[in-house]
Amino acid sequence: MDRPICGDDNERGTKRKYAGDEHNARDSNKLLTLDGCSISPIVKPESRDDDYYKALYMEEEPDFRLLGQRDSEFKDVLEHGSHLDFGNPKSVMQLTKTLLKLDFSLLVDLPIDRLCPPVPNRHNYILWLKELIDSTSPLHSHSVEPIRQVTGLDIGTGASLIYPLLGCAQRSSWSFIATDVDPKSLAYARRNAKLNNMGHRIRVVGRAMTDCLIPLAELNLETIDFTMVNPPFYTSDAELINLAAQKSRPPNSACTGAPIEMVCAGGEVGFVQRIIDESLVLRERVQWYTAMLGKQSSLEVLIDVLKRHGVTNYAVTAFVQGNKTRRWAIGWSFQSRRPSLSASRGCEPSAGKKILPFPTEATIASWPISQYKSGQLERVVCDTMDNIDLASWIWDSTHSRGIGFAGGNVWSRAYRRERAREKEKGTDVENLYGKEDTNIKTTSSHRLNNWQTTEHGFDHYAFGFSLTVQVSKSMRNHEDHGVIIARWLQGDDHALFESFTGLLRKSMRLR
Ligand code: SAH
Repeated sequence: MDRPICGDDNERGTKRKYAGDEHNARDSNKLLTLDGCSISPIVKPESRDDDYYKALYMEEEPDFRLLGQRDSEFKDVLEHGSHLDFGNPKSVMQLTKTLLKLDFSLLVDLPIDRLCPPVPNRHNYILWLKELIDSTSPLHSHSVEPIRQVTGLDIGTGASLIYPLLGCAQRSSWSFIATDVDPKSLAYARRNAKLNNMGHRIRVVGRAMTDCLIPLAELNLETIDFTMVNPPFYTSDAELINLAAQKSRPPNSACTGAPIEMVCAGGEVGFVQRIIDESLVLRERVQWYTAMLGKQSSLEVLIDVLKRHGVTNYAVTAFVQGNKTRRWAIGWSFQSRRPSLSASRGCEPSAGKKILPFPTEATIASWPISQYKSGQLERVVCDTMDNIDLASWIWDSTHSRGIGFAGGNVWSRAYRRERAREKEKGTDVENLYGKEDTNIKTTSSHRLNNWQTTEHGFDHYAFGFSLTVQVSKSMRNHEDHGVIIARWLQGDDHALFESFTGLLRKSMRLR
């Protein structure tokens, strides 16, 4: 029997209220009389940038009255002009279609008997992926790199094809492979790729239940940049039916997802465990393996599995809608580039910080801006680096940011002693861990870009870092401070980062 499906509330068992009640109506009136425009301003597609996408859905719930004013199809499903009936699958589906159309210029055709994805939650996953990918790019620029071609695999894309569509809409250099096992979903997914003229960037691939989940060999792909999944959640049909029956929803809202979408052996943990198993074979061929999870307990179990396999480069985050609905996400990598702090420790699980990966950022020093002359902090940073036997150190004066690499702990006393002995014997080599002949001590941003695009490949160095000088306001007295931030960019050994930041703190305090 076909069942109407309407989104994550049901999918995951948490209750979310999008009520266009009187309170909402008052708010929207107020907003309208203030400036006559909606809370999410209408931004032309060609002017949409990462900041625009980041700012979407910050409010707890959409203002349905305003959405209705912008889209007549949405207005048609509203009751009393501002109330959306979440018990009616057609209304919920229209909300998804309207948000995709207005905020991303995407068109989707959705079947009534398959999962209808809530846009804000799916968008959050894409925002996190962008941060994960940007902060671990081969060029270490930590900004959008339009020249970087990124390929992702969406495992179980669903009829909506929502993740590939959202990813491609936001990043013109991204492309996707989208798989599913459900013939009906596959047919709709193909249609949705075409509807948005994205057939050449999104390849929809049908799979069998027993096939592997990451079919790189079959697709003739040596490497890809990431995999993503919103896995089937329930362990059995009975669990699906039981949990659906417990929902505090009107009885007519049979919003649970078709069993083929929602049930698999072992539920979400079982599904992601399969991805972990495949990742242990494919290893570096995918830069980031990622998954969304509905339960924090699943996150803890899976982190434990990863740790048991010696994986230390992982990232954890939470996607929060309003203050009620929370999803978790996990990513892991066998490559050595480390993600930003916000991508890797994007939440505080109640299980405690101990389940989070080692922090990749540290404040080294902070001085009131009145106490130093212009350029002084930058000089302190560069002088300190000149005294360390780095394989490479490149200073970008435009962004007050330097990037360094070392073959190992070249600041330790043992290393320095060894170097001095070599010098004495006259057998001094440039650097005991080997040194790039392209070592550039200082450079303009232009020169840095040249260096970056030639890609000398510093990936093999045991340790990579950046040091940034920036101005920020002190929380205590609101005075401007010059702050030096160290970021761990690369390497498997967090002890190197810890000891390096320890050395920097000591040597910069002494000045
Ligand atoms: N990505 C969509 C759908 C998630 S529901 C969204 O977020 O809205 C889970 C999806 O995984 C379903 O479409 C289901 O058909 C698919 N699926 C289940 N087992 C699969 C498998 N072994 N390989 C690929 N897809 C699978």
